[in-house]
Amino acid sequence: MPSQRDPGSRRVGVMGGTFDPIHHGHLVAASEVAAQFALDEVVFVPTGLQPFKADRRVTPAEHRYLMTVVATASNPTFTVSRVDIDRTGTTYTIDTLRDLRAERPHDELFFITGADALSQILSWKDAAELFSLAHFVGVTRPGHDLSPEGLPAAKVSFLEIPALAISSTDCRERVGRGRPVWYLVPDGVVQYIQKYQLYRGSGEADE
Ligand code: ATP
Ligand code: MG
Repeated sequence: MPSQRDPGSRRVGVMGGTFDPIHHGHLVAASEVAAQFALDEVVFVPTGLQPFKADRRVTPAEHRYLMTVVATASNPTFTVSRVDIDRTGTTYTIDTLRDLRAERPHDELFFITGADALSQILSWKDAAELFSLAHFVGVTRPGHDLSPEGLPAAKVSFLEIPALAISSTDCRERVGRGRPVWYLVPDGVVQYIQKYQLYRGSGEADE
């Protein structure tokens, strides 16, 4: 497709997440935004420690990183970044975007986020600066309203995507109770979870 763009400037999606584990909801969100916004690449960025998840035990970063690599390996436009897991301390999206911007000063960044996370964005660290580093794309997620309230209209777009009522929390609980996660997560991720016996202790509490 011919483009009027500066040939040095690429359009790059940024999909941040805990990915504990990565599932088809994440992959469909990235794929839909890539198609609608003519992105050249989507970088998946597994988080380090997270401010809103301090109260639960998160799987070691290396497992979450490798599951993300396995899940995205077959898509030539999907890549995985270690910026958040290699930085010590709590992950704030502002640092993710600053680091990616420093690595790719000429790229245009599109931060992809589900409706649940988008509604919290104004409470994130350095919220105003976030919008100077990237354009934000909020995607629909079952059970959550996609609302523009309080967000700068010129810096945020909304996209309806196929509804996949999948969450990592539900995947972990399923594994913990011996229920299948086939077709909720990519096949290689099912096998990775089995190989390393992840999530065995999840989900018994309410049985
Ligand atoms: P957890 O249950 O552990 O919070 P999660 O399924 O919400 O896991 P995250 O890693 O927290 O996954 O989410 C990363 C990003 O992907 C967030 O922006 C979230 O809103 C988005 N997202 C996750 N699942 C979906 C889905 N099914 N549809 C659309 N967006 C999603
Ligand atoms: Mg979540």
